[in-house]
Amino acid sequence: MSVEEDVMKIQKKLTKMTSDDGTGQDEALELLKTLQTMAINLDVLTKTRIGMTVNALRKSSKDEEVISLCKTLIKNWKKFLSTPSTPSKDNGSSSKSKKESKDKEKKDEKEKDKKLPASFPPQSNTTDAIRLKCRELLTQALKTDGDNPNSCGSPEELAEELEECIYAEFKNTDMRYKNRVRSRVANLKDPKNPTLRTNFLNGVVSASRLAKMTPEEMASDEMKKLREKFIKEAIDDAQLATVQGTKTDMLKCGKCKKKNCTYNQLQTRSSDEPMTTFVLCNECGNRWKFC
Ligand SMILES: [Zn+2]
Repeated sequence: MSVEEDVMKIQKKLTKMTSDDGTGQDEALELLKTLQTMAINLDVLTKTRIGMTVNALRKSSKDEEVISLCKTLIKNWKKFLSTPSTPSKDNGSSSKSKKESKDKEKKDEKEKDKKLPASFPPQSNTTDAIRLKCRELLTQALKTDGDNPNSCGSPEELAEELEECIYAEFKNTDMRYKNRVRSRVANLKDPKNPTLRTNFLNGVVSASRLAKMTPEEMASDEMKKLREKFIKEAIDDAQLATVQGTKTDMLKCGKCKKKNCTYNQLQTRSSDEPMTTFVLCNECGNRWKFC
């Protein structure tokens, strides 16, 4: 399988979008969501330079949701650029042999990092005591059940982003601002509604969206529906991408019984789900998946 090829395919489409301004933002959003579900590692980042593409889109787009998701993606990628040697808990086996080439890539990544505008991510150096307190409360709420390994940012960063979105709406820290923060904190901490928290931590719900959600939208049932929709969309996108997958004669098509298939693997963003394999029969076009 090749995540790299899939990324490059998406990159090609995104590059077209950055040259014409404003249009096709819905499609851009879909492509970004797909990127979010992909297992993009340092290697893929270096070879495709997708970070540059997403950053260019962030600058040219006028769509709030697109911009927000671009920021989330870049923040997420930047994070493991700065800590590339962290051995992942679930697969710390094959790291030694690749170490040398990884060191080399690390250098490339640092150079690439420098090319990003100095203003990114936007620095918000607020000294307002109320705003800082609100960020702290939001951070605590996000830490309710410890560290989330699939999180798209640290609780501190996500809390800051959320607070900024709320502040941007009211432009002051009056009662409405405080009530808005308070209701986010209460809902994020709610033990009966862990899905809201994970949806925000995993990037299913953006900060700009959470900032404006009604209590009904934050409620448990709504969050579950949203999560299911997100996973379903990720699966649909992955199925479309199977054309670029790996060919195999190990898998037998249930329909035409021939052994000429292409498969692709995808880690859905739910932490408790294993890697999903999507298969396409090259003979009859039958598609299926298994875990
Ligand atoms: Zn078939």
